[in-house]
Amino acid sequence: MLRLDGITKNYVTATETVAALRGVSLSFRKNEFVSVLGPSGCGKTTLLNIIGGLDRYTDGNLFIGGRPTAEFGDREWDVYRNHRVGFIFQSYNLIPHQTILQNVELALTIAGIGREERVRRAKETLDRVGLAGMYQKRPNQLSGGQCQRVAIARALVNDPEILLADEPTGALDTVTSGQIMDLIREIAGERLVIMVTHNPELAEQYSTRIVRLLDGLVIEDTNPFSAEDEIAECEATAAAELVADTAADLELIEKGATVREVKRAARRRRERAKMSFFTAFRLSARNLLSKRRRTALVGFAGSIGIIGIALVLAISAGISGYIVSMQDDMLSGNPITVTKQTYDYEALMGMMTMEEKVKIPVRDGFVGANSLIEYLATTKTNMESLSISNDLTPEYIEYVLAMPKEYRAAIRVDWGIDLSHSLYTERTLLDGTVVHPSITALTAAYSSQIAATETFNEMHAAYATSLGNLMAEMPDNKDYVLSQYDVLAGDIAQGANEVMLVVSKDTELTDITLAKLGYYTEEQFLNLVYNATESPYYDEAKRKPDFSYEELLGKKFAFYPNDAIYTYRASPIPNMPSSYAYAGDTADISEEERGDGLSLSVVGILRPKETISFGCLSAGLYYTKALTDHVRTANADSEILAAFSGGDAMMSGVANGMPLPGSIVYSYTYFDPTVDPATDPAARKTSSGFVGAVGMETLMAMMNPNATPENRTYTVTLSRAAIGAAEKPEGLTIYPTDFEKKDLVTEWLDQWNDGDFVGNTVTLSDGSTVTLATPLSKDRSDVTYTDTLSLIIEMINSMIKVVSTALICFTSVSLVVSTVMIGILTHVSVVERTKEIGVIRSLGGRKKDVRALFNAETFIIGFLAGLIGVIVTSLLAILINVLIKVFADITVTAYLPFGQAILMISLSVGLTLISGLIPASAAARRDPVNALRSE
Ligand code: ADP
Ligand code: MG
Repeated sequence: MLRLDGITKNYVTATETVAALRGVSLSFRKNEFVSVLGPSGCGKTTLLNIIGGLDRYTDGNLFIGGRPTAEFGDREWDVYRNHRVGFIFQSYNLIPHQTILQNVELALTIAGIGREERVRRAKETLDRVGLAGMYQKRPNQLSGGQCQRVAIARALVNDPEILLADEPTGALDTVTSGQIMDLIREIAGERLVIMVTHNPELAEQYSTRIVRLLDGLVIEDTNPFSAEDEIAECEATAAAELVADTAADLELIEKGATVREVKRAARRRRERAKMSFFTAFRLSARNLLSKRRRTALVGFAGSIGIIGIALVLAISAGISGYIVSMQDDMLSGNPITVTKQTYDYEALMGMMTMEEKVKIPVRDGFVGANSLIEYLATTKTNMESLSISNDLTPEYIEYVLAMPKEYRAAIRVDWGIDLSHSLYTERTLLDGTVVHPSITALTAAYSSQIAATETFNEMHAAYATSLGNLMAEMPDNKDYVLSQYDVLAGDIAQGANEVMLVVSKDTELTDITLAKLGYYTEEQFLNLVYNATESPYYDEAKRKPDFSYEELLGKKFAFYPNDAIYTYRASPIPNMPSSYAYAGDTADISEEERGDGLSLSVVGILRPKETISFGCLSAGLYYTKALTDHVRTANADSEILAAFSGGDAMMSGVANGMPLPGSIVYSYTYFDPTVDPATDPAARKTSSGFVGAVGMETLMAMMNPNATPENRTYTVTLSRAAIGAAEKPEGLTIYPTDFEKKDLVTEWLDQWNDGDFVGNTVTLSDGSTVTLATPLSKDRSDVTYTDTLSLIIEMINSMIKVVSTALICFTSVSLVVSTVMIGILTHVSVVERTKEIGVIRSLGGRKKDVRALFNAETFIIGFLAGLIGVIVTSLLAILINVLIKVFADITVTAYLPFGQAILMISLSVGLTLISGLIPASAAARRDPVNALRSE
């Protein structure tokens, strides 16, 4: 069965070479009970390990069944250990985290035997060694004797031909020793049993042959077996096997098997099944399960890096999603605009990053003269080129309006009309008189009123009353407006004689807006502006904190054309320009001219919908395109235009409270807060104002305290556009239908600028063609439009990209840290499981199996870490969404996209696998003998 021929074994250590065996020649019969006796350190264990294929001999030869093992590879040794040898150790070497059933199963598991057969055979074997019904116990719940019984069962379960036992009773008391020896003898049966012991009585009592060793040499053999006999026995066995194989083949052939089937059956008899990766996976999972708390901790620690990266991805997905969801909304607040004057925004951005100037190196001991002049010279041309003038010709307007209807919700042409000059409201004075000032005049009166308080001066008051956009034309598309606004009361304005109020999301309008529109009585306004110390008239109770829908909807305005409100006045001084007087109140308009007016009513109150953040309208008063058309028609031939025939007019004159030639002056009254109006008629003061913008010189003159009244030159500017008579518009506002259509709108606008495009058929990228009424000519000039939203989105997107890249780099550090940590933990696990590695190897497990075992373990941990990372991230994302909703009132849906979740798990698995590779292959390379010796 076995033959050792001059086996020597030297252990080479750093300091010395120990000769553990010094030429051992022994042959063993197929069936005998051999005891190897000898003092400690004589080489017994070494001999047994060599016989069992756990250790390699230095010299000599070992024959197994007649085959020399000198050329055996790892695989042959593995097969030998797994199929033909069973080991029993003094220290049992059971795997503590497995039940005894699983311990016994292990040898079969390594052989790749299916679960059902494995459990059946393991239970049978356990029953045989007297452990029936204790299958689920763990090694630490058993006595020493019971542990050794488990070890015996494990050695036997594969039905080996050779049973090797190294001092099996060394750790047991005498009684238990006897029981174990009885068991070994009983199960020995037809096998070769080689038992190492230093107990001569046990050897005498149980064995059929005793071999004594001393200092690595055989000194006595009570029942020697010659080499020739061993060879003969091997030949006989081989012959018997051949006979048995042939008989089995014949039996198959008799049953009608084909040649192929017979060959396959023969191969299967010899072939050894292997442990599958799935089995390794299950063993590892079981090991990890037995250390649940630690596994959870490792998984969680490993997930931290993943959580970091996944969270950044989730949030950036949330923000991107938010931007996409906001696009239509943002678009309504940032429509495409074309204005008479604009800037080349792209060039402007380019300039910001422009190389400053040529740097001249400063010499040591010198001070450099920085070339600022040259720098300014270059930037001047750049700055000039940034400013663009657009010629908004009727042809261009016609072209823009010819754009397919489905692309745009509305197009608003801005004629630059200042309606506050020509709209008149109603105001009740302190004494109960009702007057009808224009909004311009009322604003001037309130400005003076505010300026008379202690906190405001004139300039500050003028600034305060100019705040906010008071009036504007609404987009001419009822459905578009109603898709963004709720009607709180009344209805949306539609006709020329209808206006509407738009309030903020909080259902508010500023007091200045309400005051300028004439919603306050003089008394209410005074109590809004002054306090008790400033005015004896102050009465807290008369403050007005809010307005009912009815109060707001009851308001009426009157529009009068230019000819009604500007009256020609010939200059009393020769050679001075003549002037126009402006009617600051309807009382200044003649009865006859009043007939040309148009009465306007506030018909509705609108508020942005809950879901809208931008919207096409901000708070204020809105009128219709119909009114704009009415105003332009009514003013088209007005007399005052003659004075402005040269374009925008600049009129100047010297004023000291008196209307003088050249200025469009009107008078208004306000109230002196320090005087009680009931007792003193002087409480009401009279002042004068100007229609149109006051120039810079005027402001300077007003503020110069040293100037005599004669030297105060007031300049007032009034444009043709402001009085509603411009030939060309100031600008265009295009509201695309939705975000997708925006590009088609800009494409349409780009066609105008495409110099090569001439004719009347415009084709767009979506295939639609439009035939223009007037063909485009070649000599048209370019018009630059501003697509603010694209600029904003581009900026936000690049910002998100930069920020998330930076964050990912940052969190990657934690990923690296957790990867290294998993590597260390795998290493710890290898150290902890050293004995298990030894057992697996002694049971015939391949190096590959050990590696697979640890790779499976890191795989599971990596998967777990990835899974925890993804789950925690998803939960955190929900929390973040809730927090953003609560604190910022923004609906952001941060979430980890499925694809990225999979990617994160794969990343985690990949990284932990890599981090575990080194410890895993170190484990695989471990010498099984050393592994078993470690305790
Ligand atoms: P026994 O089992 O008879 O007590 P061993 O076979 O374990 O003896 O050891 C025989 C000799 O070889 C001893 O001197 C021991 O110190 C030495 N030895 C065993 N294993 C090693 C090893 N791995 N490295 C160095 N010396 C060893
Ligand atoms: Mg020993």
